[in-house]
Amino acid sequence: MVVSLLTFIEFPFLYYIYHTNTIVYMILSIAAIAIFIPAAHALIFAALAVFCDVFIVIFSYYHPAPWAVITEQEAFYSTLCSLVISLFCVFMVTLLLKVQYEKQANDLRTLGEQLKNAADHDTLTALYNRRYLNQYLEQLIQNDHTDFYAVLLDLDFFKKINDTYGHVFGDEVLVTFSRILEKYLPDGGIAVRFGGEEFMLILPNTTENNIRNLLQCMRTDYKQFIKEKKNTVYSFSSGIAQYQNGMEISTLYSLADKKLYCAKNDNRDKDVF
Ligand code: GH3
Ligand code: MG
Ligand code: MG
Repeated sequence: MVVSLLTFIEFPFLYYIYHTNTIVYMILSIAAIAIFIPAAHALIFAALAVFCDVFIVIFSYYHPAPWAVITEQEAFYSTLCSLVISLFCVFMVTLLLKVQYEKQANDLRTLGEQLKNAADHDTLTALYNRRYLNQYLEQLIQNDHTDFYAVLLDLDFFKKINDTYGHVFGDEVLVTFSRILEKYLPDGGIAVRFGGEEFMLILPNTTENNIRNLLQCMRTDYKQFIKEKKNTVYSFSSGIAQYQNGMEISTLYSLADKKLYCAKNDNRDKDVF
């Protein structure tokens, strides 16, 4: 940018200092315009810069500067000045290129992180999604961390919540329930939106008793939230499966699902181990 601006500042002086350095300035400034000015404007600026430079070159050819005898020392300083200006231009272009490169690398890094975040999380609840859960479990099993439980939770009569209070409140319930899950999630565990109004917790190194207490705290908070909002009672059910060595991930899911089905058939609002 700085160098491209130099194109415009330099051109009145080109008349007097016109020699091979002019060509260097021209190339540098056009390169700078191409790199640092947005594409749509760069063409106009570059065309204008080329036009100005060509005009001055032609003008100085037909109307050369008055001949002046210069001493050897003046010639030396003139060359030195030209060299300093050229080096300064090269330095500025290099510096700006480096800044530009670092900014682009930074933007790319941020974009990569945002993409990874979007790919691993559910947009409504910000919990992990099922894609992440599958990867997480594969990693866990590969690393021999096989002492964990999978808890599949399903909100009871959620369709009725939607039908009675509207989809917007339904969404609010899903988000609030997600925050309740996170509130009681022990260290090392993860909470996942499994799909619709179903959630999964992965709880490593714990006991059935701990899980029972945890689910009770979550249940109390959930019921209290619905009571405060709509002065009515809604609950959730869950099925809990312990991972066994050599088990397929899909088998773990269907085991938890079978237990959840039992809870649903037993009047809901239950945790089945
Ligand atoms: P059950 O007690 O047997 O689980 O009954 P249920 O009504 O909770 O289950 P059902 O499968 O009949 O209904 C689930 C409902 O969840 C239907 C669907 O419209 C709703 N749902 C799924 N995803 C979303 C969502 O992102 N937002 C909202 N508001 N509703 C959703
Ligand atoms: Mg369901
Ligand atoms: Mg349900």
